[in-house]
Amino acid sequence: MHNIIIQIVYYASAILFILGLKRMSSPKTATSGIQWAGIGMLLAVIVTFLSPNMHNFALMLLAIAIGSMVAWMAAKKVAMTAMPEMIAMYNGMGGGAAAAIAAIELFKLSADTATAMPITTFILAISGALIGGISFSGSILAFFKLRDWLKNIYFPMQQVVNLCILAAAILLGALSYFWHSNFIIILFFAASLSYGILMTMSIGGADMPVVISLYNAFTGLAVACEGFVLNNIALIIAGTIVGSAGTLLTMLMAKAMNRSLVGVLFARFGGGNGTIVEGTTKSMEIEDAAVMLNYVNKVVFVPGYGMAVAQAQQKVWELASLLLEKGIDVKFAIHPVAGRMPGHMNVLLAEAGVPYEYILDMEDINNDFQNTDIAIVIGANDVVNPAARTDKTSPIYGMPILNVDHAKQIFVIKRGKGKGYAGIENLLFFNDKCRMVYGDAKQVMTKMIQTLKEQE
Ligand code: NDP
Repeated sequence: MHNIIIQIVYYASAILFILGLKRMSSPKTATSGIQWAGIGMLLAVIVTFLSPNMHNFALMLLAIAIGSMVAWMAAKKVAMTAMPEMIAMYNGMGGGAAAAIAAIELFKLSADTATAMPITTFILAISGALIGGISFSGSILAFFKLRDWLKNIYFPMQQVVNLCILAAAILLGALSYFWHSNFIIILFFAASLSYGILMTMSIGGADMPVVISLYNAFTGLAVACEGFVLNNIALIIAGTIVGSAGTLLTMLMAKAMNRSLVGVLFARFGGGNGTIVEGTTKSMEIEDAAVMLNYVNKVVFVPGYGMAVAQAQQKVWELASLLLEKGIDVKFAIHPVAGRMPGHMNVLLAEAGVPYEYILDMEDINNDFQNTDIAIVIGANDVVNPAARTDKTSPIYGMPILNVDHAKQIFVIKRGKGKGYAGIENLLFFNDKCRMVYGDAKQVMTKMIQTLKEQE
């Protein structure tokens, strides 16, 4: 009877996950989508306590209490700009949890030499352990890199060494089926975790978004594999959803970056430093820039990571609304990897209440820049850097960019000489048509709005 209740609740949780995910596809229903999926997860956790052969209730409750408290506090105080790091960390925890489940099953197998695990279950357990382990250590390293605590690390024959470690992990995993030894399993986990670190340490420049979504897919796959091992329907469905959504996202991100996945993982893209740019940039006072907006027909706003740092989205929309009232054609151009997480700019603009008809994806707006009187770049850098088209030594070479340099005039709003995520000079800033309007994005927007209002 217990078992039937457990299975029914697991199915109900899985349905809540699917419906929750569906609701997350629109900003209007996204919050409730997260709540639905959360309720599904809560139900799945509660009902698991009814499973037969459960021990150590106190220890489990203590672990849940500590985990929930840390997560609650972290989520309460995380800044919007630190969300990607937090997601990378949680993603890693999911991969680690899947690898831990596999570890318990594999150690049980090695302790009990009399019983053999069916080969299919064993393959799933080892695959989940390998993928989960890679995702765990790789995501933690991605967290360090996103925090800027670590730079890319390169060494000679890096890809060969990486492939040897991966081959060793697979070999040790296979060996542990025939040779029940704790030592082999420990070596297997050490190789899997090392591979995650090695693989991530050399991926740089603008390729991080692809890797982060790849780890997302890995975590889902690992969880699904362990779901089969434990015969747990909720894990299988939740893992498959995360795995397939993550795979789709990885493919979309790779396409947006004009990279092949193999290229991102093995070709040392993002490794160059870019050519040093010679020339001078020209700056302009905020008030002068604002006044010029009175004499144009078409303005395109190009938001980037700096807008998120400054939390300037409300002010940007206020300025755009003022221009719209003056009869000026206004659009927002969104690069797929602007900011620090997929959809970052869309989320911020939706939060500020910008109607969707003004927001255009890169491929829909790129041919329009030549008819744009002023393109206003707000805290974006890498995604508008023409070096991606021309400089083969650049870590972002080959990445499609927003054609801001085709606009008749360009304003770039940033605080100073700070580089973008890829750490390179931006050719755009040296363009004759470009004027640097220095300051924090929110303060610049506020001053521009004030200047325009004073002139009315
Ligand atoms: P960038 O990181 O290239 O540049 C951000 C710019 O914002 C900096 O040059 C900085 O200059 C400026 N800035 C920072 N704070 C402020 C502020 N308060 N006010 C005004 N400007 C500010 O941003 P992009 O959005 O152009 O590019 C995103 C990059 O991040 C890409 O390389 C992408 O590959 C990478 N990435 C993206 C992920 C994703 O999923 N979207 C995930 C991981 C990485 P200054 O200091 O002078 O103000």
